[in-house]
Amino acid sequence: MAKVLIVDDSATMRKIIMRVLRQAELKVEDVLEAGNGIEGLAALGKAPDIGLILSDVNMPQMNGLEFVKKVREAHPKEKLPMVMITTEGGEAMVQQAMSNGANGYVTKPFTPESIRTALAGFIG
Ligand SMILES: [Mg+2]
Repeated sequence: MAKVLIVDDSATMRKIIMRVLRQAELKVEDVLEAGNGIEGLAALGKAPDIGLILSDVNMPQMNGLEFVKKVREAHPKEKLPMVMITTEGGEAMVQQAMSNGANGYVTKPFTPESIRTALAGFIG
């Protein structure tokens, strides 16, 4: 069972992601939310047992690319998987996120199946 951190500047999108995580029947124990990379780092500081991060790319204050880089200063890829949520046509962003240390990505609009496929290797 994993504790999952969802980082997205849209509260509506965070709700959708939470619902899809439930529909995907993944072993999610608890879900924490943050609205940008800065809040994400703060959440991670308070809950070091977070086992997976799902992060948007386009966010104010600290975007997903910078956020991945910061997380990787303290948490290696093997210990804390990070999956990016991207929009279609965002291939350059995806490449950048992967080279900054993301483990994978899922493209919007996503379905329970695509979420399950993207996360199955990390949380079963
Ligand atoms: Mg956004």
